Amino acid sequence: MAGYDYDLLLKNGRVIDPANGMDQRADVAVRDGKIAGVGPGIGGSAAREIDAAGLIVAPGLIDCHCHVYPTFPQEPDKLYNINPDAHMLQSGVTTVIDAGTCGWRDFMRFKETVIDVSEVRVLAMINIAAGGMVRMQSEQEPSEFNAAVAAEIAKAYGDIVVAIKTAHYWTHRPFTDERKPWASGDAAIRAGEMAGKPCMFDFYPWLPERPYQGLIERMRPGDVHTHMYAQQFPVLDEHGRVSEFLLKARERGVRFDLGHGAGSFWFRNAVPAYRQGFAPDTLSSDLYMENIHGAALNLLNIMSKYLCIGMPLEEAVARATVEPAKQFGHPELGALTPGGCADVALLKLHEGDFGYADCGNARLRGKWRLECEMTVRGGKILFNRDALGMPDWTEAPASYWTPPGIIQDI
Ligand SMILES: [Zn+2]
Repeated sequence: MAGYDYDLLLKNGRVIDPANGMDQRADVAVRDGKIAGVGPGIGGSAAREIDAAGLIVAPGLIDCHCHVYPTFPQEPDKLYNINPDAHMLQSGVTTVIDAGTCGWRDFMRFKETVIDVSEVRVLAMINIAAGGMVRMQSEQEPSEFNAAVAAEIAKAYGDIVVAIKTAHYWTHRPFTDERKPWASGDAAIRAGEMAGKPCMFDFYPWLPERPYQGLIERMRPGDVHTHMYAQQFPVLDEHGRVSEFLLKARERGVRFDLGHGAGSFWFRNAVPAYRQGFAPDTLSSDLYMENIHGAALNLLNIMSKYLCIGMPLEEAVARATVEPAKQFGHPELGALTPGGCADVALLKLHEGDFGYADCGNARLRGKWRLECEMTVRGGKILFNRDALGMPDWTEAPASYWTPPGIIQDI
Protein backbone atom coordinates (compact mmCIF):
# COMPACT_ATOMS: atom_id res chain seq x y z
CA MET A 1 0.00 0.00 0.00
CA ALA A 2 1.01 3.58 -0.54
CA GLY A 3 3.67 4.83 1.80
CA TYR A 4 4.79 1.43 3.02
CA ASP A 5 7.03 -1.24 1.64
CA TYR A 6 4.81 -4.01 3.03
CA ASP A 7 1.27 -4.47 4.27
CA LEU A 8 2.35 -6.88 6.98
CA LEU A 9 5.71 -7.83 8.45
CA LEU A 10 6.03 -10.76 10.84
CA LYS A 11 9.30 -10.28 12.69
CA ASN A 12 11.65 -12.73 14.36
CA GLY A 13 9.50 -15.84 14.42
CA ARG A 14 10.74 -19.39 14.02
CA VAL A 15 9.85 -19.86 10.37
CA ILE A 16 9.12 -23.51 9.61
CA ASP A 17 8.52 -23.90 5.89
CA PRO A 18 9.30 -27.50 4.91
CA ALA A 19 8.48 -26.86 1.25
CA ASN A 20 11.49 -24.54 1.09
CA GLY A 21 13.65 -26.45 3.56
CA MET A 22 13.52 -23.63 6.07
CA ASP A 23 13.54 -23.85 9.86
CA GLN A 24 15.17 -20.74 11.27
CA ARG A 25 14.57 -17.41 12.93
CA ALA A 26 13.41 -15.08 10.18
CA ASP A 27 10.92 -12.45 9.06
CA VAL A 28 8.03 -12.89 6.66
CA ALA A 29 6.84 -9.91 4.61
CA VAL A 30 3.44 -9.67 2.93
CA ARG A 31 2.31 -7.30 0.21
CA ASP A 32 -0.87 -7.30 -1.92
CA GLY A 33 -1.98 -10.61 -0.48
CA LYS A 34 1.23 -12.37 -1.46
CA ILE A 35 4.42 -13.38 0.28
CA ALA A 36 6.87 -10.59 -0.54
CA GLY A 37 9.94 -11.97 1.20
CA VAL A 38 11.22 -14.45 3.76
CA GLY A 39 14.54 -14.20 5.54
CA PRO A 40 16.36 -12.78 8.51
CA GLY A 41 16.38 -9.03 9.06
CA ILE A 42 14.00 -7.89 6.32
CA GLY A 43 14.21 -4.10 6.27
CA GLY A 44 11.69 -1.53 5.12
CA SER A 45 8.46 -0.18 6.50
CA ALA A 46 5.23 -2.05 7.06
CA ALA A 47 1.67 -0.89 7.66
CA ARG A 48 1.43 -3.59 10.30
CA GLU A 49 4.41 -5.07 12.08
CA ILE A 50 3.96 -8.07 14.35
CA ASP A 51 6.55 -9.28 16.83
CA ALA A 52 6.50 -13.03 16.27
CA ALA A 53 9.37 -13.82 18.66
CA GLY A 54 8.59 -17.03 20.52
CA LEU A 55 6.07 -18.10 17.88
CA ILE A 56 6.24 -20.53 15.01
CA VAL A 57 5.51 -18.96 11.63
CA ALA A 58 4.25 -21.69 9.32
CA PRO A 59 2.43 -21.79 6.01
CA GLY A 60 -1.34 -21.75 6.47
CA LEU A 61 -2.29 -25.32 7.32
CA ILE A 62 -4.09 -27.63 4.91
CA ASP A 63 -6.68 -30.00 6.35
CA CYS A 64 -6.96 -32.49 3.53
CA HIS A 65 -9.88 -34.51 4.88
CA CYS A 66 -12.92 -32.77 6.34
CA HIS A 67 -16.59 -32.19 5.56
CA VAL A 68 -17.77 -28.67 4.83
CA TYR A 69 -20.96 -29.09 2.79
CA PRO A 70 -23.20 -27.98 5.63
CA THR A 71 -26.59 -29.60 5.20
CA PHE A 72 -28.28 -32.66 3.88
CA PRO A 73 -30.22 -31.25 0.92
CA GLN A 74 -33.08 -33.57 1.79
CA GLU A 75 -32.79 -32.72 5.50
CA PRO A 76 -32.19 -28.97 5.55
CA ASP A 77 -32.94 -28.85 9.27
CA LYS A 78 -30.06 -31.17 10.13
CA LEU A 79 -26.62 -29.65 10.41
CA TYR A 80 -24.15 -32.44 9.84
CA ASN A 81 -21.05 -30.82 8.45
CA ILE A 82 -19.04 -27.81 9.46
CA ASN A 83 -18.67 -24.26 8.24
CA PRO A 84 -15.05 -23.82 7.15
CA ASP A 85 -14.78 -20.18 8.21
CA ALA A 86 -16.34 -20.87 11.61
CA HIS A 87 -14.32 -23.95 12.45
CA MET A 88 -10.98 -23.78 10.68
CA LEU A 89 -9.43 -20.35 11.07
CA GLN A 90 -8.99 -20.74 14.82
CA SER A 91 -6.60 -23.62 14.24
CA GLY A 92 -4.46 -21.99 11.55
CA VAL A 93 -6.12 -23.85 8.69
CA THR A 94 -6.41 -21.75 5.53
CA THR A 95 -7.18 -24.53 3.03
CA VAL A 96 -9.57 -27.44 3.45
CA ILE A 97 -10.27 -30.34 1.18
CA ASP A 98 -13.80 -31.63 1.43
CA ALA A 99 -13.49 -35.41 1.25
CA GLY A 100 -16.35 -36.28 -1.05
CA THR A 101 -19.30 -35.07 1.00
CA CYS A 102 -20.81 -34.05 -2.29
CA GLY A 103 -21.44 -36.27 -5.26
CA TRP A 104 -21.36 -35.14 -8.84
CA ARG A 105 -25.10 -34.38 -8.84
CA ASP A 106 -24.86 -31.67 -6.15
CA PHE A 107 -21.44 -30.29 -7.03
CA MET A 108 -22.64 -26.97 -8.47
CA ARG A 109 -24.73 -26.29 -5.38
CA PHE A 110 -21.68 -27.02 -3.22
CA LYS A 111 -19.56 -24.71 -5.35
CA GLU A 112 -22.02 -21.82 -5.24
CA THR A 113 -23.00 -22.06 -1.57
CA VAL A 114 -19.66 -22.97 0.04
CA ILE A 115 -16.60 -23.07 -2.21
CA ASP A 116 -17.17 -19.68 -3.86
CA VAL A 117 -18.17 -17.80 -0.71
CA SER A 118 -15.77 -19.03 2.00
CA GLU A 119 -12.75 -17.10 3.22
CA VAL A 120 -11.01 -20.42 3.80
CA ARG A 121 -9.90 -21.91 0.49
CA VAL A 122 -12.13 -24.91 -0.18
CA LEU A 123 -11.00 -27.68 -2.51
CA ALA A 124 -13.00 -30.83 -3.05
CA MET A 125 -12.93 -34.50 -3.76
CA ILE A 126 -15.94 -35.49 -5.79
CA ASN A 127 -17.85 -38.53 -4.63
CA ILE A 128 -18.25 -41.25 -7.22
CA ALA A 129 -21.84 -41.70 -6.01
CA ALA A 130 -24.23 -39.14 -7.49
CA GLY A 131 -25.66 -38.12 -4.11
CA GLY A 132 -22.38 -38.26 -2.24
CA MET A 133 -22.46 -38.92 1.47
CA VAL A 134 -25.18 -36.38 2.09
CA ARG A 135 -27.46 -39.00 0.53
CA MET A 136 -25.77 -42.08 1.88
CA GLN A 137 -28.09 -44.52 0.15
CA SER A 138 -26.56 -43.26 -3.08
CA GLU A 139 -23.21 -44.69 -1.99
CA GLN A 140 -24.81 -48.17 -1.91
CA GLU A 141 -26.21 -48.13 -5.42
CA PRO A 142 -23.88 -49.07 -8.29
CA SER A 143 -26.32 -47.40 -10.70
CA GLU A 144 -25.38 -44.11 -9.00
CA PHE A 145 -21.65 -44.55 -9.73
CA ASN A 146 -20.95 -42.69 -12.95
CA ALA A 147 -17.24 -42.52 -13.67
CA ALA A 148 -17.62 -40.53 -16.90
CA VAL A 149 -19.70 -37.73 -15.38
CA ALA A 150 -17.55 -37.52 -12.24
CA ALA A 151 -14.45 -37.31 -14.42
CA GLU A 152 -15.97 -34.58 -16.61
CA ILE A 153 -16.74 -32.45 -13.57
CA ALA A 154 -13.29 -33.12 -12.13
CA LYS A 155 -11.74 -31.96 -15.40
CA ALA A 156 -14.06 -28.96 -15.87
CA TYR A 157 -13.24 -27.71 -12.37
CA GLY A 158 -9.72 -29.06 -12.30
CA ASP A 159 -8.42 -26.38 -9.93
CA ILE A 160 -11.06 -27.15 -7.31
CA VAL A 161 -11.65 -30.87 -7.67
CA VAL A 162 -8.48 -32.57 -6.50
CA ALA A 163 -9.51 -36.23 -6.24
CA ILE A 164 -12.29 -38.79 -6.57
CA LYS A 165 -13.75 -40.23 -3.37
CA THR A 166 -15.12 -43.72 -2.82
CA ALA A 167 -16.64 -44.41 0.58
CA HIS A 168 -19.17 -46.26 2.69
CA TYR A 169 -20.04 -48.95 0.18
CA TRP A 170 -21.28 -51.18 2.93
CA THR A 171 -23.14 -53.54 0.65
CA HIS A 172 -23.26 -57.03 2.05
CA ARG A 173 -23.71 -60.28 0.25
CA PRO A 174 -25.17 -61.55 -1.90
CA PHE A 175 -23.16 -59.80 -4.55
CA THR A 176 -24.53 -59.93 -8.06
CA ASP A 177 -23.39 -58.88 -11.50
CA GLU A 178 -24.90 -55.44 -10.83
CA ARG A 179 -23.74 -55.26 -7.25
CA LYS A 180 -20.10 -56.25 -7.35
CA PRO A 181 -17.91 -56.14 -4.23
CA TRP A 182 -15.63 -53.51 -5.73
CA ALA A 183 -18.22 -51.55 -7.73
CA SER A 184 -17.60 -48.26 -5.94
CA GLY A 185 -13.81 -48.51 -5.80
CA ASP A 186 -13.50 -49.63 -9.41
CA ALA A 187 -15.74 -46.81 -10.64
CA ALA A 188 -13.66 -44.31 -8.68
CA ILE A 189 -10.45 -45.60 -10.23
CA ARG A 190 -12.01 -45.37 -13.71
CA ALA A 191 -13.00 -41.76 -13.01
CA GLY A 192 -9.55 -41.03 -11.60
CA GLU A 193 -7.90 -42.42 -14.71
CA MET A 194 -10.14 -40.38 -17.02
CA ALA A 195 -9.63 -37.18 -15.05
CA GLY A 196 -5.95 -37.69 -14.18
CA LYS A 197 -6.75 -37.43 -10.47
CA PRO A 198 -5.95 -39.57 -7.44
CA CYS A 199 -8.66 -41.44 -5.54
CA MET A 200 -9.28 -41.52 -1.82
CA PHE A 201 -10.59 -44.77 -0.36
CA ASP A 202 -12.73 -45.06 2.77
CA PHE A 203 -13.69 -48.71 2.80
CA TYR A 204 -15.20 -51.21 5.21
CA PRO A 205 -16.29 -53.92 6.07
CA TRP A 206 -14.00 -56.73 4.98
CA LEU A 207 -15.62 -59.74 3.42
CA PRO A 208 -14.11 -62.82 1.82
CA GLU A 209 -15.00 -61.31 -1.57
CA ARG A 210 -13.53 -57.98 -0.51
CA PRO A 211 -10.51 -58.37 1.76
CA TYR A 212 -8.55 -55.42 3.12
CA GLN A 213 -5.38 -56.53 1.42
CA GLY A 214 -7.32 -56.67 -1.86
CA LEU A 215 -8.22 -53.01 -1.44
CA ILE A 216 -4.63 -52.01 -0.82
CA GLU A 217 -3.46 -53.97 -3.84
CA ARG A 218 -6.10 -52.32 -6.04
CA MET A 219 -4.89 -48.83 -5.22
CA ARG A 220 -2.70 -47.03 -7.72
CA PRO A 221 0.45 -45.09 -6.84
CA GLY A 222 -0.78 -41.69 -5.65
CA ASP A 223 -4.13 -43.00 -4.43
CA VAL A 224 -4.88 -42.33 -0.77
CA HIS A 225 -6.01 -44.69 1.97
CA THR A 226 -7.71 -42.66 4.70
CA HIS A 227 -8.55 -43.63 8.30
CA MET A 228 -5.30 -45.60 8.29
CA TYR A 229 -5.27 -46.21 12.07
CA ALA A 230 -8.92 -47.11 12.55
CA GLN A 231 -9.55 -50.03 14.85
CA GLN A 232 -10.98 -52.19 12.09
CA PHE A 233 -7.88 -52.06 9.90
CA PRO A 234 -5.22 -54.74 10.42
CA VAL A 235 -2.39 -52.23 10.58
CA LEU A 236 -0.44 -54.59 12.83
CA ASP A 237 -0.07 -58.31 12.25
CA GLU A 238 -0.42 -60.99 14.92
CA HIS A 239 3.13 -60.26 16.11
CA GLY A 240 2.48 -56.55 16.51
CA ARG A 241 4.49 -55.70 13.40
CA VAL A 242 3.21 -53.33 10.71
CA SER A 243 1.58 -55.54 8.09
CA GLU A 244 3.97 -56.34 5.28
CA PHE A 245 1.48 -55.54 2.53
CA LEU A 246 1.10 -51.98 3.87
CA LEU A 247 4.85 -51.43 3.72
CA LYS A 248 4.91 -52.81 0.19
CA ALA A 249 2.01 -50.52 -0.80
CA ARG A 250 3.88 -47.50 0.50
CA GLU A 251 6.95 -48.55 -1.43
CA ARG A 252 5.03 -48.50 -4.68
CA GLY A 253 3.53 -45.06 -3.98
CA VAL A 254 0.21 -45.68 -2.21
CA ARG A 255 -0.39 -42.81 0.21
CA PHE A 256 -1.75 -42.97 3.76
CA ASP A 257 -3.90 -40.26 5.33
CA LEU A 258 -4.76 -40.08 9.02
CA GLY A 259 -8.44 -39.02 8.70
CA HIS A 260 -9.08 -38.88 12.46
CA GLY A 261 -12.87 -38.44 12.56
CA ALA A 262 -15.17 -39.67 15.30
CA GLY A 263 -14.07 -43.28 15.07
CA SER A 264 -10.95 -43.71 12.98
CA PHE A 265 -7.88 -42.99 15.09
CA TRP A 266 -6.62 -45.44 17.70
CA PHE A 267 -3.37 -44.91 19.57
CA ARG A 268 -3.23 -48.70 19.90
CA ASN A 269 -2.63 -48.85 16.14
CA ALA A 270 -0.97 -45.48 15.57
CA VAL A 271 1.75 -45.49 18.23
CA PRO A 272 3.25 -48.93 17.54
CA ALA A 273 3.06 -48.18 13.81
CA TYR A 274 4.83 -44.85 14.28
CA ARG A 275 7.58 -46.46 16.35
CA GLN A 276 8.16 -48.88 13.50
CA GLY A 277 8.43 -46.03 11.01
CA PHE A 278 4.92 -46.22 9.56
CA ALA A 279 3.78 -42.60 9.95
CA PRO A 280 0.92 -40.90 8.09
CA ASP A 281 1.83 -39.10 4.89
CA THR A 282 -0.81 -36.49 5.69
CA LEU A 283 -2.42 -35.46 8.98
CA SER A 284 -6.11 -34.61 8.70
CA SER A 285 -9.09 -34.16 10.96
CA ASP A 286 -12.07 -35.65 9.09
CA LEU A 287 -13.94 -32.92 10.95
CA TYR A 288 -17.74 -32.81 10.94
CA MET A 289 -20.28 -31.74 13.53
CA GLU A 290 -20.20 -34.97 15.50
CA ASN A 291 -16.52 -34.73 16.34
CA ILE A 292 -15.73 -31.02 16.65
CA HIS A 293 -15.74 -31.42 20.43
CA GLY A 294 -14.56 -34.99 20.47
CA ALA A 295 -11.18 -36.62 20.14
CA ALA A 296 -10.44 -35.03 16.76
CA LEU A 297 -11.17 -31.39 17.73
CA ASN A 298 -9.07 -29.78 15.01
CA LEU A 299 -5.94 -30.27 12.95
CA LEU A 300 -3.65 -28.65 15.53
CA ASN A 301 -4.91 -31.08 18.17
CA ILE A 302 -3.94 -33.94 15.88
CA MET A 303 -0.53 -32.42 15.20
CA SER A 304 -0.10 -32.08 18.98
CA LYS A 305 -0.85 -35.77 19.42
CA TYR A 306 1.92 -36.56 16.98
CA LEU A 307 4.39 -34.33 18.77
CA CYS A 308 3.59 -36.30 21.93
CA ILE A 309 4.01 -39.58 20.05
CA GLY A 310 7.47 -38.39 19.05
CA MET A 311 7.20 -36.78 15.64
CA PRO A 312 9.55 -33.80 15.21
CA LEU A 313 7.73 -30.47 14.90
CA GLU A 314 8.95 -29.72 11.37
CA GLU A 315 7.67 -33.13 10.22
CA ALA A 316 4.26 -32.52 11.75
CA VAL A 317 4.13 -29.15 9.96
CA ALA A 318 5.19 -30.78 6.68
CA ARG A 319 2.39 -33.35 6.93
CA ALA A 320 -0.14 -30.54 7.30
CA THR A 321 1.27 -28.24 4.62
CA VAL A 322 3.57 -29.30 1.81
CA GLU A 323 2.61 -32.98 1.83
CA PRO A 324 -1.15 -32.51 1.27
CA ALA A 325 -0.37 -29.69 -1.19
CA LYS A 326 1.73 -32.00 -3.35
CA GLN A 327 -0.52 -35.00 -2.84
CA PHE A 328 -3.55 -33.14 -4.16
CA GLY A 329 -1.93 -31.32 -7.06
CA HIS A 330 -1.48 -27.84 -5.58
CA PRO A 331 2.25 -27.49 -4.95
CA GLU A 332 1.87 -23.70 -4.86
CA LEU A 333 0.04 -24.07 -1.51
CA GLY A 334 1.43 -25.08 1.88
CA ALA A 335 4.55 -22.94 1.43
CA LEU A 336 5.89 -19.47 2.19
CA THR A 337 7.40 -18.97 -1.24
CA PRO A 338 7.79 -15.34 -2.38
CA GLY A 339 5.09 -14.58 -4.93
CA GLY A 340 2.75 -17.21 -3.47
CA CYS A 341 -0.53 -16.51 -1.69
CA ALA A 342 0.06 -15.13 1.82
CA ASP A 343 -1.59 -17.85 3.87
CA VAL A 344 0.24 -17.95 7.20
CA ALA A 345 -0.32 -19.59 10.60
CA LEU A 346 1.34 -18.22 13.74
CA LEU A 347 1.49 -21.03 16.25
CA LYS A 348 2.61 -21.34 19.85
CA LEU A 349 4.11 -24.55 21.19
CA HIS A 350 3.23 -25.00 24.86
CA GLU A 351 5.15 -27.35 27.12
CA GLY A 352 3.27 -28.90 30.03
CA ASP A 353 1.34 -32.00 31.05
CA PHE A 354 -1.42 -32.62 28.56
CA GLY A 355 -3.79 -35.47 27.78
CA TYR A 356 -5.26 -36.55 24.46
CA ALA A 357 -8.09 -38.95 23.67
CA ASP A 358 -8.38 -41.33 20.77
CA CYS A 359 -11.56 -42.72 19.24
CA GLY A 360 -11.43 -45.80 21.45
CA ASN A 361 -11.55 -43.81 24.70
CA ALA A 362 -7.86 -44.30 25.43
CA ARG A 363 -5.61 -41.50 26.66
CA LEU A 364 -2.14 -40.43 25.64
CA ARG A 365 -0.20 -38.15 27.93
CA GLY A 366 2.44 -35.85 26.59
CA LYS A 367 4.16 -32.55 27.11
CA TRP A 368 3.33 -30.70 23.90
CA ARG A 369 0.36 -28.68 22.74
CA LEU A 370 0.16 -26.45 19.69
CA GLU A 371 -2.19 -23.49 19.68
CA CYS A 372 -2.92 -20.93 17.01
CA GLU A 373 -2.22 -17.27 17.78
CA MET A 374 -2.93 -15.75 14.38
CA THR A 375 -4.22 -16.84 10.99
CA VAL A 376 -3.52 -14.85 7.85
CA ARG A 377 -5.43 -15.79 4.71
CA GLY A 378 -4.50 -14.07 1.45
CA GLY A 379 -2.70 -11.35 3.42
CA LYS A 380 -5.70 -10.62 5.66
CA ILE A 381 -5.58 -11.21 9.40
CA LEU A 382 -8.71 -13.27 10.06
CA PHE A 383 -7.87 -14.62 13.51
CA ASN A 384 -5.80 -12.84 16.13
CA ARG A 385 -6.14 -14.50 19.48
CA ASP A 386 -3.40 -12.55 21.24
CA ALA A 387 -4.31 -9.15 19.76
CA LEU A 388 -0.88 -9.09 18.18
CA GLY A 389 0.07 -5.75 16.64
CA MET A 390 -2.60 -3.76 18.44
CA PRO A 391 -1.67 -0.85 20.75
CA ASP A 392 -1.98 -1.37 24.49
CA TRP A 393 -5.32 0.00 25.65
CA THR A 394 -3.55 2.66 27.75
CA GLU A 395 -2.00 4.01 24.56
CA ALA A 396 -4.92 3.48 22.22
CA PRO A 397 -6.72 6.57 20.89
CA ALA A 398 -10.04 7.62 22.37
CA SER A 399 -11.80 6.64 19.18
CA TYR A 400 -11.87 3.26 17.48
CA TRP A 401 -8.37 2.17 16.58
CA THR A 402 -8.08 1.34 12.92
CA PRO A 403 -5.01 -0.50 11.76
CA PRO A 404 -3.09 1.43 9.16
CA GLY A 405 -3.20 0.12 5.64
CA ILE A 406 -5.66 -2.01 3.78
CA ILE A 407 -5.43 -5.10 5.92
CA GLN A 408 -8.85 -6.21 7.01
CA ASP A 409 -9.05 -7.16 10.66
CA ILE A 410 -11.42 -9.19 12.71
ZN1 LIG B 1 -14.52 -38.27 6.10
